[in-house]
Amino acid sequence: MTDFAATKAMFHLPDGVIYLDGNSLGPLPLAAPERVAEMMTAQWGQMLITGWNKAGWMAAPSAMGDRIARLIGAPEGSVVLGDTLSIKVFQALAAALSLRPDRRVIVSDSGNFPTDLYMANGLIRALDKGHELRTPAPEDVADAIGEDVAVLMLTHVDYRTGRMHDMADLTARAHAAGALVIWDLAHSAGALPLDLAGCGADFAVGCTYKYLNSGPGGPAFIHVAPQHAGAVEPVLSGWLGHDAPFAFDPDYRPGPGIERMRVGTPPVIQMAALDAALDIWDSVDMQALRDRSVELCERFIEGVEARCPDLTLASPRVAAQRGSQVSFRHPEGYAIMQALIARGVIGDFRAPDILRFGFTPLYIDADDVDGAVNHLAEVMEGNHWDRPEYKVRAAVT
Ligand SMILES: *Cc1c(COP(=O)(O)O)cnc(C)c1O
Repeated sequence: MTDFAATKAMFHLPDGVIYLDGNSLGPLPLAAPERVAEMMTAQWGQMLITGWNKAGWMAAPSAMGDRIARLIGAPEGSVVLGDTLSIKVFQALAAALSLRPDRRVIVSDSGNFPTDLYMANGLIRALDKGHELRTPAPEDVADAIGEDVAVLMLTHVDYRTGRMHDMADLTARAHAAGALVIWDLAHSAGALPLDLAGCGADFAVGCTYKYLNSGPGGPAFIHVAPQHAGAVEPVLSGWLGHDAPFAFDPDYRPGPGIERMRVGTPPVIQMAALDAALDIWDSVDMQALRDRSVELCERFIEGVEARCPDLTLASPRVAAQRGSQVSFRHPEGYAIMQALIARGVIGDFRAPDILRFGFTPLYIDADDVDGAVNHLAEVMEGNHWDRPEYKVRAAVT
């Protein structure tokens, strides 16, 4: 069993704050500042360039990839860190398309995070081979998987509504149609148990700064199933994905397996923070985490629906169809969220009308949920959101 009171004590949570936005940016692990400081002074400071070997900086993207592999149900040696999620989406899609050269259709869904769709369209333009991106509504994806589909590219948990696709079922359907599957785990990794290997997923990508708590700008990860890893020709053929980077060969030759998905120099300082965050995950049982997350989400939905009749649930009501967040709709959602943040309850807003609350059992408990419900009810009952300063949109919402 996981001791969630103990994990909560491993984070810095500012006084008076109920933090329900760990689905966007996880909070600071208490061990991270010292880990980063040590990396800077004892490693960078003292070892200088020898740190690449002595401190294991060069091996860190695969070593930490293995620690993430456990959390997403992927085998060792199938995950590597680096770059940002947008880049990893591009890489995975290019690799998947190259394995289906006779097909031209990519299926995603209309709820996907825009960068995933932008990157797909950018790749389509760059390839200039007549590929087409289709984006049916999330509930219509299964029907869109025909024999012409090269790749099914989905974000497992919808960033706005928290709606969750059935990974095993859709992967099986895609394979039956001869297509490959890419799962974006941005809102799943660290949020619920995953079994990429059991589902037979071909590719997966995700970020570490959301539920995994690596801090702003933390590196992304990519998983390639072992049967594909040696077969894909990387489109971002950077020197650190080369078979022998320090041979400085003018001709590119992909490295072994997942190593070829590396591009350039890894973000070593940021990986020190990730290392501290992953120490916490080592003690976590993912099923216990999921059970607690469901409890917290149900408690929040029940409390808000009892006390805030003007808010409409935007997330699936059935827990099994939901990730680890709960969203409500209201036309004045932005102002309501600003009023909540002013009271120390931090969630976020997604246009046009979604108030989003992430429930992260590592550091959120039932008292936090009750506190958040109370504040939200007070804001709604007293119309506290109806102030001009709460209606001015900031750059990041
Ligand atoms: C958060 C998120 C991203 C962010 O991409 P970055 O390149 O890390 O900025 C991409 N896709 C999805 C589905 C996300 O939720």
